[in-house]
Amino acid sequence: MVLLSNSKAPSASAVAAGVINPVTGRWAVKSWRIDDLLPEAERLYRSLEEELNIDVYHPMPLRRFCKNKEDQKRIGRRLRNLRYADVLGDFHLAGDCPEKIKDSYGSFDILRAAYVDLPKLLEAMRARFRFVDTQFDHADLRRIGDCWEYKEFKAAKVVFSEGAAMHGNPWFTLLKSALTPIKGETLSFECPELKLPHSIYHHGKWLLAYGDNRFRIGATYSQDFDGADPSKSATNELLEGVRAFVGTELLLQKEKQLAGIRPSTFDARPLLGAHPTEAGLYLFNGLGSKGASVAPLMSRHFTKYLLSGAQLDPEVDIKRFLNP
Ligand SMILES: Cc1cc2nc3c(=O)[nH]c(=O)nc-3n(C[C@H](O)[C@H](O)[C@H](O)COP(=O)(O)OP(=O)(O)OC[C@H]3O[C@@H](n4cnc5c(N)ncnc54)[C@H](O)[C@@H]3O)c2cc1C
Repeated sequence: MVLLSNSKAPSASAVAAGVINPVTGRWAVKSWRIDDLLPEAERLYRSLEEELNIDVYHPMPLRRFCKNKEDQKRIGRRLRNLRYADVLGDFHLAGDCPEKIKDSYGSFDILRAAYVDLPKLLEAMRARFRFVDTQFDHADLRRIGDCWEYKEFKAAKVVFSEGAAMHGNPWFTLLKSALTPIKGETLSFECPELKLPHSIYHHGKWLLAYGDNRFRIGATYSQDFDGADPSKSATNELLEGVRAFVGTELLLQKEKQLAGIRPSTFDARPLLGAHPTEAGLYLFNGLGSKGASVAPLMSRHFTKYLLSGAQLDPEVDIKRFLNP
């Protein structure tokens, strides 16, 4: 197997915080297929850590703060729902939290959360496999008999995992409208006055506290953007996010702002499958804003399909867009 990728081109994985959060969104619900995704994510990251001799999977406590009374009531209902027993922990009354955090409506613990150091994992994977750092030019991909030829490479199967750059892939133009690129940005900063235990806090935005005065806040969501570089409007939005969380009096030392484009889809499901007419061309995309939790199970599912001819789940198969 050969991996071709341009390490200098924009990459969502290179800037993602890698947070895995089983209870998400405004309504605080279990995210799509999380009961199946979580065990597979943990199993895969742990086995990769062992095989590649790296440390990338970090289970973390996660505390989400209620925004208003409605939120409080909703969480009360979830806490009584047995389906949520494995992912929801204690409810904390307003003010029962580390000082400085604004907490008018209480908070609750989300269990089984983690963050994955995706840049470190990618680096180790590139070293482990045959990796060629290059810009892939689709115009040079040619069918020769049963095979595909690209410059000096020959392969029976070519899998495109280009993230948001799929929009420029001439072989999959039919799926262009299925992919909705969404730009996201995060901000890392230091703040010695903000003493928060090593944890993830969710207060409108998530705040990752590394436990040593370093923090990372994210993320922004924008469908209307101009390029993949960090933007001033996101800086302001993220700084406002910090202020809404811990007040305005703290001095933040801005460290680094990262931006990337999420390969989100029209129906928030992955895009997996075979080209409708060009045998041997495949797509693995559409990981959206949850690649850290979704990719492990989807990779296993896709590998079984690719290598053993297992059926693809119609919910993630690109056929849903090709033959609706
Ligand atoms: C700011 C931000 C924060 C995020 N936070 C989280 C989070 O906390 N948790 C989470 O689960 N997800 C998060 N995500 C989403 C996550 O990043 C994505 O789900 C995931 O990274 C998508 O992976 P991918 O491999 O499909 O795409 P990418 O990571 O974008 O990878 C595509 C790769 O293909 C390469 N490529 C494309 N075209 C070519 C070409 N022609 N030639 C050579 N190389 C090419 C690119 O260089 C890139 O390396 C975040 C995303 C952003 C932007």
